[in-house]
Parts: sequence; structure tokens; C-alpha cells
Amino acid sequence: MKILVINAGSSSLKYQLFDMETESIAAKGLCERIGIDGHLKHTPLVGGKPVFDSDMDFPTHAEAIAAVLDKLTSDEYGVVKSMSEINAVGHRVLHGGQKFTASTLVDDKVKEAIRACFPLGPLHNPANLMGIEACEQAMPGVPQVAVFDTAFHQTMPASSFMYAIPYKYYEEHGVRRYGFHGTSHRYVSAEAIKVMGLQKEGSKIVTCHLGNGSSMAAVKDGKCFDTSMGLTPLEGVPMGTRCGSVDPAVVEFIANTEGISASETLTMLNKKSGVLAVSGVSSDFRDLDKAAAEGNERAKLALDMFNYAVRKYIGAYAAAMGGLDGIVFTAGIGENSIEVREEILKGLEFLGVKLDKEANKCRGKVQKISAPDSKVQVWIIPTNEELVIARDTEDIVLGRPVR
Ligand code: ADP
Repeated sequence: MKILVINAGSSSLKYQLFDMETESIAAKGLCERIGIDGHLKHTPLVGGKPVFDSDMDFPTHAEAIAAVLDKLTSDEYGVVKSMSEINAVGHRVLHGGQKFTASTLVDDKVKEAIRACFPLGPLHNPANLMGIEACEQAMPGVPQVAVFDTAFHQTMPASSFMYAIPYKYYEEHGVRRYGFHGTSHRYVSAEAIKVMGLQKEGSKIVTCHLGNGSSMAAVKDGKCFDTSMGLTPLEGVPMGTRCGSVDPAVVEFIANTEGISASETLTMLNKKSGVLAVSGVSSDFRDLDKAAAEGNERAKLALDMFNYAVRKYIGAYAAAMGGLDGIVFTAGIGENSIEVREEILKGLEFLGVKLDKEANKCRGKVQKISAPDSKVQVWIIPTNEELVIARDTEDIVLGRPVR
């Protein structure tokens, strides 16, 4: 079975075509500047075909999808003979609200429910739906599956997901913690249970998804018990450009003192804050590491704040779950930054965490980095959200239980 995985943003669209027999990627690519002008980079990974990398006209997502399908099936750049070889499409959808606790086959009702979540994911959900509708148009009759970033977190108890604000905001508008990166937390926690040799029941794992956006999850019995992102991805640890948790009064204070609106303030907290703002250097941790090594105090402060926040969450989640068996590092920073992992784990010895510094000198592969006598196992597990989307899509299309 061949499955096309789509991650549609407001002006971009990433794709990967999976061959599920080997779970390998036959081709991948990126459409950019949709609605502005357009550019497609298409990379075939089988058959020795050349890369296509050129400007194109993409007034909407529909033209972008049409171009992707054309390249996937073309003589020159293609990896399949015809569109009939593409059996299903899996879509990443940001917000599933309280409605979606698992991946689902798309029909009119599901599209309506994704639309109903527009207020919760105003930047992403409309784009995700555009991606789905563009595929429906271009590939009539081919099953489409939606995989939600929020779904894995729907097992949180109310004491984890409620905000202590008037109850009507929850009842009437669904204001609560939802959490994001769910597909990643689900994948790495399931892999962790396997590699750590744990039983799902009784297992207590903290997963640290540290990338451009960062989130933490407490995974108990293989299910999400708590997570750091909230109603939107702004809450939690400081991130590349997002502030993470702050006193909500900051919004009104800055809006009033700067004479800007609440939404302008929130844009600033989303796009111009985080380690970028604290360091004044960059949102990229490679730049921060370099600047800190050269003696830049604010870059050092930004890193310290990030590491401290992640460490606090690990401690808090160990307390919340009543123990800790394992910690997982994943995503760009978690998989690659030796220094960040070492700093985060400093001071957690009292929980039974003992780092193997030599093993920690490793990037981007599954690797145990705790010492053999560490009570808590610590692992790097590279995330693979696209593979999870492809597997869910395959399972749903074949009518079997999702893995
Ligand atoms: P996204 O959230 O966009 O999926 P990623 O998970 O790919 O992001 O993470 C991207 C971030 O990972 C970069 O901004 C950078 O800060 C960090 N990163 C990547 N490689 C390294 C490295 N070798 N050392 C430190 N940080 C790294």
C-alpha cells in the first residue's frame, strides 16, 4: 500500500509518499509560497530520478496538490506509474478539540468538526482543511484520514486539563488545556516502553519534545496524563520564539504600556519572544550554543531559562505520576543538543537520574544515555510523526485497530 502524508500550512504544504510494505519514503517534497506565487521542491528517493526544484504558480492549495500529484506520477520525476497506486492520504491536523481522541477517516461530518475547531486553531486548521479538500478534489474516491496533534492528550484527567477560570468558558467555548505534538509524544513514548523493557501498565515516562516548538508530556500507563502546551501551543517551556508560560496579566500590561491590542501582544508573545527575545541572538539553539560559548551572557541566560524550565517539568511530572521510570528526548534540540540534555539532567540525581556522559555524545539516533546503574532510564528517540500518520492511515483504511 502507498500512502501520501500531507502537512498543510497556511502558505506551505509538506508531503511524503510512503511505501508501507517497507515503511520507506518513496518521495518527499515541499510546496511553498501558496497564495503568493509558488515554489515546489520535489525529491524522489527511489529509481534514481532527479530532484525538481522550481517556481510554479500556486494560487491555492488545490494547484499545489495538483502539481505534487503530477510530479509523483510523471515519467521524469515520478515514483509511481499512476495515481491509482496511491491508496490513501493521511493529513496532519492541528486541533481536534475534544471531539477527536484518535485518528479518523474523513467524511463531511469530520470536515465540519475540523471547521468547528477553527477558533481553537485559527492559523492551522483552515490550512489543514484546505489540504484535505484539495486532495478530495484531485483524487476523488481515495480515502483521506485526519491525524490530530491534540488526540493523544485527550486521556488527560480533568485535574490536568482544566484552567481555574469560570466554568462556563470550558462548557460554552471549550477553554481548557489540549496540548500539541501529540503524534510525537505518542510515538516516542510507545517506542520508549519497548526499548526500556517496561510493561505499559504501571509505566511512568516523561517525554521532552524539544524543537522549534517545545512541549513536555507525562505519560502514565502509556497514556497522556499531563502536558505542557495548553489551549494553544503558547503555554509551557520557553521556545524558539514563543514565551511559554507567563503571568496572563503581562498581556494587558504590555498592551496598555505599548498602546497595542491584545492580539498584537499575543503575536509578539508567539513570534518575537522565547529564546530569540531573551538572547537577542537567534531562535536556533545552534546559534545560541555558539554565542554562549563565545561569552554572550544573554545567550547563556536564554539557554539557562530553557534548561531550567524543562528540568522543572520533569520534576513536576515525576511528582504528578508518583514516580519516574524513564525520560525521552526528541525533536531537533532533544535529538541533537548534547549540552542541553546534559544541563537539563543536572540536579535530577535525587530522582535516580544518572547520565552517561559518553553515551550522551550522540545525535539523531535511538540511544540510551543514562548510566547502567541509573534508576531512571534516559533515551534519545528520534520522533517520526509522518510515519505515525502513515501507519494510522493504513490501519484505518484496512479497517484494523490503530497501532
Ligand atoms: P520543528 O518544531 O519546526 O519541527 P525541529 O524539531 O526540527 O523543529 O527542531 C528545530 C530546532 O532544533 C532548530 O531550531 C534548532 O534550534 C535545533 N537543533 C537542530 N540541530 C541542532 C544541534 N545540532 N544542536 C542544537 N540544536 C539543534
